Amino acid sequence: MSIAENINSIKSGLPSHVNLVAVSKTKPIEDLRVAYDAGQRIFGENKVQEMVDKYGQLPHDIQWHMIGHLQRNKVKYIAEFVTLIHAVDSLKLLQEIEKQGHKFQRKINCLLQLKIAEEDSKYGMSFETANEILNSEAYNNMSYANIVGLMGMATFTEDEQVIHDEFKYLKTCYDKLGAQDHKLEILSMGMSGDYSIAISNGSNMIRIGSHIFGSRNYN
Ligand SMILES: *Cc1c(COP(=O)(O)O)cnc(C)c1O
Repeated sequence: MSIAENINSIKSGLPSHVNLVAVSKTKPIEDLRVAYDAGQRIFGENKVQEMVDKYGQLPHDIQWHMIGHLQRNKVKYIAEFVTLIHAVDSLKLLQEIEKQGHKFQRKINCLLQLKIAEEDSKYGMSFETANEILNSEAYNNMSYANIVGLMGMATFTEDEQVIHDEFKYLKTCYDKLGAQDHKLEILSMGMSGDYSIAISNGSNMIRIGSHIFGSRNYN
């Protein structure tokens, strides 16, 4: 199937409250144009330089989501245009986002990445740390860095029960933190292989790469 057909078939099966992020990392600009012409407006990238390059070449009504691990010294390159940073994993990164948001005079929406997988992935914080950050004086004094939800990645496994349990745990965290009046509205979970399980566990933002653009070649 074509990129446009893939987008349409994924979208036609989505509940209306679920937003689709088209993960275009490693893909050429022509592929993004095809997706754009099919009506897709939210694109996810995981490398700063690649996102900046693509931003410069495509229409400006695209919403750019940084979905990968973000180094503090690179926030400045995307602060002017990024719509959502999915993988905030420390207060220090949030402080840099605040600084750059101030500089560019724009609020920058962020998600805290929670580590929900059993496997030893490098990034993501615990529920306790997320809770601490949201209630910290440091965060509550910020005017530009704005936490609007949580993001997580399930274990890469065939075992659907494991994936289900991990997403369910993240939803529980999201509900607990949201109940404290933190105005959380985005729960970003689910990728090509597991988005149905994510949606049935409360996801309202899925990040789909290979099911739209085909498999990626990493070098
Ligand atoms: C690459 C990536 C995706 C998309 O993965 P697919 O399996 O190709 O859909 C989603 N989220 C993050 C954080 C990614 O790095």
